[in-house]
Amino acid sequence: MHSLRIINIMKKQFICNVCKKKVHFNLFNNDELGIINKRKYYYIDCIKCGLMQIHPLPNAKELEKYYKYNSKQYSDYKISLINRFLKSSKIGKKIIYSYFTWSYKTRAKLIKQYKSSGSILDVGCAQGNFLNNFSGKYWDKTGIELNPMLVKIAKKNFLDQKIINKFFESYNTKKKYDVVTLWQTFEHMQSPNKILIKLSKIIKHHGFLIIEVPNSKSLNKSLFKNYWQLFQKGEHLFFWSAKSLTTILKLHKFKIRKIYYPIFDTSTSGSLVNFLSNKKIPQLIVLLLGLMSIPLGIVINLFVYDKRDNMQIIAQKL
Ligand SMILES: [Zn+2]
Repeated sequence: MHSLRIINIMKKQFICNVCKKKVHFNLFNNDELGIINKRKYYYIDCIKCGLMQIHPLPNAKELEKYYKYNSKQYSDYKISLINRFLKSSKIGKKIIYSYFTWSYKTRAKLIKQYKSSGSILDVGCAQGNFLNNFSGKYWDKTGIELNPMLVKIAKKNFLDQKIINKFFESYNTKKKYDVVTLWQTFEHMQSPNKILIKLSKIIKHHGFLIIEVPNSKSLNKSLFKNYWQLFQKGEHLFFWSAKSLTTILKLHKFKIRKIYYPIFDTSTSGSLVNFLSNKKIPQLIVLLLGLMSIPLGIVINLFVYDKRDNMQIIAQKL
């Protein structure tokens, strides 16, 4: 990603997914090819509500094909030098494992503040680690995952979970859930309104919808611009802010209960590595600076709240 500059000062008109009418957009140039469909894409951002997206969007078929063979973990692993380094040693693997275990547990705790039993569906459940934090005694647990390899692991490890190997877009059910979660999944979906109509149908009256997405108002995005780690090379299709996400959820008759910005999620180090890797600096130095900036990212997060890298929104169906 070399340049992210406005290429059309006149500003083009597109239909915004949130504003639902033709609005003016800033069109940003981007020299990269999307990794989903190997096509060149732009970034556009709505002047009215601030929703940013890639343009043109890949279609549903292209997405289904891509995620069937590339799990989320795989692509994260591919782009991050630091992840690769950590995964090359036993202690590094342990650090990553403990971080994820802790992170899934924290997410589950968040939900248990609102609901202590019932049915839960995790969309994009990967190996089922998140759902494992809910006791089978009190919870009826279902996960949907498109990647067959991850499904195989989930089915083997967690016998009390029902795992569905499907694209969420083609999941049809009469069942209604008390809680539905999308952790870092919603921003990968190409038709947010269609997804929310579907979610609305499968969530019980007064049931909960929890969405975690990258925060388009993050400080790191403003600092690192096109090197921001969470652009994720065209895998992330939409960039939500608290304002645009709140607005679209309200349109679909959800009430916002709470928005959290997790403190330990930081892209400072990943974004710095992206930036330095482009500057012909030896890999070892990039790696060292990257590792050193992990605690720095967390310290920065102490001073910013709604400008952290990720946000979690707890919504309730009216
Ligand atoms: Zn808009």
